[in-house]
Amino acid sequence: MGFEVWNDNVHKEPSQCKSLEKAAKMDSENILIFDADNVTAVFCGSKDYDEEYNVTLSHCECQDFMYNKKGQAPCKHIYRLAMECGLIDTAVEPWSTYISYSKAYDGIIRKIKKIDMYRLLELKNYIDENY
Ligand SMILES: [Zn+2]
Repeated sequence: MGFEVWNDNVHKEPSQCKSLEKAAKMDSENILIFDADNVTAVFCGSKDYDEEYNVTLSHCECQDFMYNKKGQAPCKHIYRLAMECGLIDTAVEPWSTYISYSKAYDGIIRKIKKIDMYRLLELKNYIDENY
């Protein structure tokens, strides 16, 4: 089974690029069991190490997958499983662009929060007129 279980467009959402970036940064100690033959893994939670999640390419037991994404998009565990299986290489396209996008997005959000109210309204008008 390849990573085609997910539509390519899913990965372009900002929140998905963030999950992908987190997966790439995740400590390998969080992977308790990796079964390459069956393409499954067991991860422990990054904050709560007592939590364990059974992960396949299409499903994860974590809160982010079940509640935030409502099972409609991969969480960081699914992305990491795909990386471990060689289905995703973040050094090549399109994944490298998704990682860059996540970093750029966060950087812009941080800067927007520092912009003066009147400048921000100018920026909004500019964006509304041009995009
Ligand atoms: Zn998960």
